[in-house]
Amino acid sequence: MKAYDELMAFQRETEALAEVAGRLGWDQETVMPRGAAPQRSEEMAAMQGVLHARNVDPRVADWLAAIDGEALDEVARAQLHHIRRGHDRATRVPGELSSRIARVTSRAQGLWAEARATDDFAAFAPVLEEVIALKREEGQALAAGGDVYDAMLDDYEPGATAETLTAMFGALRPALADLRAAVREAPQPPVLEGVFDEAAQMELTRLLATTFGYDSSIGRVDKAVHPFSSGSGLDVRITTRTNPLDPFNCFYSTIHEVGHAAYEQNIDQAYLLTPLGRGVSMGVHESQSRIYENQLGRSRAFTGWLFGKMRDAFGDFGVADAETFYRIVNRVSDGYIRTEADELQYNLHVLLRFDLERALMSGDLQVGDLEAAWNDRFEADFGYPVDKPSNGVLQDVHWSVGLFGYFPTYTLGNVYAGCLHEALRAAHPDLDDHLARGETGVATEWLRTNVQTHGGLYTPRDVIRRASGIEPSEAPLLSYLQNKFGDLYGL
Ligand code: ZN
Repeated sequence: MKAYDELMAFQRETEALAEVAGRLGWDQETVMPRGAAPQRSEEMAAMQGVLHARNVDPRVADWLAAIDGEALDEVARAQLHHIRRGHDRATRVPGELSSRIARVTSRAQGLWAEARATDDFAAFAPVLEEVIALKREEGQALAAGGDVYDAMLDDYEPGATAETLTAMFGALRPALADLRAAVREAPQPPVLEGVFDEAAQMELTRLLATTFGYDSSIGRVDKAVHPFSSGSGLDVRITTRTNPLDPFNCFYSTIHEVGHAAYEQNIDQAYLLTPLGRGVSMGVHESQSRIYENQLGRSRAFTGWLFGKMRDAFGDFGVADAETFYRIVNRVSDGYIRTEADELQYNLHVLLRFDLERALMSGDLQVGDLEAAWNDRFEADFGYPVDKPSNGVLQDVHWSVGLFGYFPTYTLGNVYAGCLHEALRAAHPDLDDHLARGETGVATEWLRTNVQTHGGLYTPRDVIRRASGIEPSEAPLLSYLQNKFGDLYGL
């Protein structure tokens, strides 16, 4: 198996370089001196050039051709599957097109930020048209005659198709909109008031990270404008943020990112620096972050424990009891912004983007009509109009940087989390007794052995199917949300 060994040695070095490139990104968002930005973009472009050259290296195709797949075990076959996939993708897209996309999206991101600051969609529209045209061209190259949007999806969620997602999301949308409307009519819980010391928030956030099994000996927690998790294997870092008026933003951002990070930290170490040593898809990744954040972190049992910890950290902060605290944590409020949305409304934000971006890609929707289409859809699903573009069509960075096919993985992650949560509860009927003591171990251990340890060994759907024992479906998520918010709002 000389060819296999040579290919894996080559790939291992590629994976190591990709980790280095990722760490440059982490550095840029956390500790990089502000003046370093122009040099950093050259450094990153150089790393991308090296990685691209390795991905299209003709030796990879030679090695792949020389290997007898039949003689390999399951793990080796899975490794080859990922390498072949990466190589095919890299060779299908002309280098010149990739460079044009990189240049246009870099410009588009700047124009998007300006347009958002000035609430001027028309200032962003022309460059968005350029991005869409180039991404469509890339999608056509990737699809090789197949469906263009599916080819884009495949970058983030291998195996997913617009057709299956449309069916799943089509079942979610009316049920969520109805639940949302009923909640809106019901009496509202109080809001959190007061000022919460930011150093104390960071101290409690570190405790939360540890509580959810984040291993700080192979990770670290820093602050950044937008929370994220980066890296895999033995160096997985997370960031969070603090706002003196909103400690939940800090705590739940941390728990969310710990879900992502725990996935990467808990992959079988035999897969370190190989294609199997990473989370298998964005959807499965998001299932981990969301189950940590919502089904566990925002449960009645766990918030009871968190209420005590917040009283320890901040003294009496004006919330009388654990039940009121639970209702405040899960409060459903009117809002416009996806990233600030509660678990009930979040998916409505995503479904809107999924439908609009497919229409943009197919040409059914023109960029000139996008703002109006967004506003109409928002009012239909949320019951009130968008007040300004920065609260509407200009709120997300994704389309400016060419991320088409990415949004649906957020809801897919929630759907997967629903399936996993149901199976987890069945395996551990006493889960709430543990959570009420601030012990997440039974849940995180179940997720580690059933999902996280496998890394890229199985397809995304397979890993969820094996763990949950059912075909992935929106039904468990929907009944979880209906039960939870029905109970909270007395519906
Ligand atoms: Zn996430």
